[in-house]
Amino acid sequence: MNADAGSGCPLTMTFAAVPALRHSPTLAKEWLPKIMANRYDERNVPYFEKEGVTIGMAMTEKQGGSDVRANTTRAYPVTEQQGNGAEYELVGHKWFCSAPMCDAFLVLAHTENGLSCFLLPRWRPDGSKNQMFIQRLKNKLGNISNASSEVEFRGAFAWMVGDEGRGVRTIIEMVAMTRFDCMVGSSALMRAAVAQAIHHTSGRSVFGNNLHKQPLMQNVLADLAIESEAALAISMRVAHALDHSDDPQQALFVRLATAVGKYWICKRTPHLAYEAMECIGGVGYVEDNILPRIYREAPVNAIWEGSGNVQCLDVLRAMNKEPKVIDAFMQELQQACGHYAAYDQFVAALGTEFSDLSNIEFRARTLVDKLAIALQASTLIQQGEAMIAAAFIRSRIESNGGINYGTLPSDVDCQAIIQRAMPKL
Ligand SMILES: Cc1cc2nc3c(=O)[nH]c(=O)nc-3n(C[C@H](O)[C@H](O)[C@H](O)COP(=O)(O)OP(=O)(O)OC[C@H]3O[C@@H](n4cnc5c(N)ncnc54)[C@H](O)[C@@H]3O)c2cc1C
Repeated sequence: MNADAGSGCPLTMTFAAVPALRHSPTLAKEWLPKIMANRYDERNVPYFEKEGVTIGMAMTEKQGGSDVRANTTRAYPVTEQQGNGAEYELVGHKWFCSAPMCDAFLVLAHTENGLSCFLLPRWRPDGSKNQMFIQRLKNKLGNISNASSEVEFRGAFAWMVGDEGRGVRTIIEMVAMTRFDCMVGSSALMRAAVAQAIHHTSGRSVFGNNLHKQPLMQNVLADLAIESEAALAISMRVAHALDHSDDPQQALFVRLATAVGKYWICKRTPHLAYEAMECIGGVGYVEDNILPRIYREAPVNAIWEGSGNVQCLDVLRAMNKEPKVIDAFMQELQQACGHYAAYDQFVAALGTEFSDLSNIEFRARTLVDKLAIALQASTLIQQGEAMIAAAFIRSRIESNGGINYGTLPSDVDCQAIIQRAMPKL
């Protein structure tokens, strides 16, 4: 449960690269068996000598993170053959390139025909080192166990992946998967923080009684546990949809649900981590405790792979481009109707939000917040523990959520919720 999150970065990038690489059958044939080998080969040797490889990505440049079309890295064909699978040399600079020990990277660069996607190996096919130079490692707030770097390509060898000029479209298939992993990773951080808070307070006596038995602390702990369970619930719901994305309804649902879930869970995690730290008290702020590490880790998933606003704009883009995605999302919500009047009213009101699209970009966070809360409620009602679903609806829908954790209504059975979330040692 408390595995360090830093190792998640190269893992998610490696597996998420699969759908993007499938755009190039020759590259897929050579690379996918090594990617899916489930074997980590740490040796600094060419990819063709390895049974298992890891893959990173380098999109972000100083002037272009969210807006990758502002990238200036250039790609020049090496031979007369051009396009998907052909060989190029890349010249440019990338402002962020995490896990630079990976065996290859999906990179965006411009050809004469627009922004394209490339696979850039760290060693050239002739066995020499590629012209990719790490300029420095980033001095990050957290995520320390995962190196992030700035790199320069000085005529670095790479193969084009997918159609020329369609680089964003190709790499977005990787990004969709890493966004899902951000949901899972942040849910895991939440759970780690809640487990620490409950464990500590259950052994800490203050004013003559253990903290986790005192009413106000019970309110905080139970509220954190509800948040954590709701985050995990929608992460698993999206995982299920991804596993069944050959079903058109699930594919439409997942298009919106990933952006909604990535935005919401990753944004809720830093505040939850801080509250868990405060439950532990002074020692929770001291580096001997794990909470400072969890706290520093918490914002990263919200920032990378499309920051909060970018996710909200992505929801609007998806709705605009393919209106059926919102129908699929609303159908999912409607399946949970008929159990809680407040939830039914919430979903009905949500439906009317889409009838007025004026000023929608300005209101995007308000809208996506509601979609996220509705999705969490729906998933908990349909697949979750009844006690958690009821408490979620009472606290997040009927009373519109407190600004702070620890503001649950008094009829919520906090003791039972804490007991359920108590780590089993
Ligand atoms: C630890 C870490 C590791 C990373 N690893 C990698 C990596 O391996 N490979 C890689 O390519 N990148 C990586 N990144 C970079 C990351 O993906 C970018 O930082 C991110 O995409 C945001 O881009 P930016 O920093 O240029 O911010 P900007 O694009 O300048 O955005 C700043 C803010 O503006 C908001 N914003 C953007 N557009 C709009 C809009 N139209 N309306 C309203 N608000 C908007 C964004 O949501 C954001 O909050 C990493 C970042 C971190 C922190």
